[in-house]
Amino acid sequence: MITDKIEKSVVERVWAAVQSAQRIVVLTHMSPDGDAMGSSLGMRQWLLQQGKQVQVIVPNAFPDFLAWMPGAKEDLIYETQRDQADASLAQADLIICTDFNEPYRIGSLGTKMMEQYKAGKSVIVIDHHLMVAEKTVPEAEQVIKIVLAESPSASEIVYRLIYQIQQLAGLDAMNLDTATCLYTGMMTDTGNFSFNSNYPEMYEIVGDLVRLGVNKDAVYNAVFNSYKADRMRLMGYCLYSKMRIFPEYHTAFIYLSRKELYRFHFQSGDAEGIVNLPLQIKDIYYSCFMREDKVNPSEVELANGSKIKVKISMRSQGDRPVNVMCHEVFNGGGHKNASGGEHYGSLPEAVEKFLANYPKYFKKD
Ligand code: 5GP
Ligand code: MN
Repeated sequence: MITDKIEKSVVERVWAAVQSAQRIVVLTHMSPDGDAMGSSLGMRQWLLQQGKQVQVIVPNAFPDFLAWMPGAKEDLIYETQRDQADASLAQADLIICTDFNEPYRIGSLGTKMMEQYKAGKSVIVIDHHLMVAEKTVPEAEQVIKIVLAESPSASEIVYRLIYQIQQLAGLDAMNLDTATCLYTGMMTDTGNFSFNSNYPEMYEIVGDLVRLGVNKDAVYNAVFNSYKADRMRLMGYCLYSKMRIFPEYHTAFIYLSRKELYRFHFQSGDAEGIVNLPLQIKDIYYSCFMREDKVNPSEVELANGSKIKVKISMRSQGDRPVNVMCHEVFNGGGHKNASGGEHYGSLPEAVEKFLANYPKYFKKD
């Protein structure tokens, strides 16, 4: 038995919205990670099982190591398939957002989404990031939000929602493709169950997904043992040549210019996981990783004329929040131990900002 974490009235509203929709669009956040892909594709597969027409739209490309996921190749990528994506959005009866609740997190796709919202379309938001009132999708009759900030992954919330709808409506179990997508998101957002993963019910859900046929070892291999040699070399370069340690603050810091990334034939997703590596060092509790990137066409509105942006990722352990610094210094946010932000400007500026600010936000003990 899984505890009902979503209010019954909310589950009823979601089920009613799904039943009355025929065409559904599912959106997830920029630079999609395993949980973004898992929650959106898991939702897609389940909606297909309910006989719906479903289109997932991602703001930009997903990494190669997630391309095997069931349905991934059917995603529309907003940056390169804008007309088709706009047409899907315009035709949708219902929009479902997974793994984000702030329209700006999906760039100009968010502007398009909000046009549809203003035109009265129903929106369901399923997420595990804190809601900031002035940034999130506004409250309205046509909006249903399931935002559980304490949940380790959006995929787990999608699982819970489907489970509760099944109890309510007596539906068949979810199919294997749905289960595989949701398992992938749960696995990646907990670092293969190594953080935010200390409660028994998570393993009841995993047990259920495995019972439905998920091959968890195969999923692990597909995601974590499929790096290109260049990506491994990039990691080695970061650790050997680029990592700075500030022992007093238990902090490690790595940054990469575009020139360095090119040297390793960088592709979207290759930097994933680098920020976690320094936490394996004894007495390092904070890690910050920055990489220089160009501004995507879908972000021009945010960039204030800058053509360059710096993507910032931070990780920490225990009671040492990094989301406060990401929010206040880098206009971002996230979870206590895993957050990020962006700097629209040069890499040296972003590095300076970090160096000037980390002692104010990080603890010495
Ligand atoms: P990553 O470091 O893997 O890119 O992001 C880790 C987490 O930080 C994400 O799950 C998301 O919660 C948050 N995050 C990353 N970038 C941003 C950002 O630009 N804005 C906000 N609000 N959150 C971010
Ligand atoms: Mn997530």
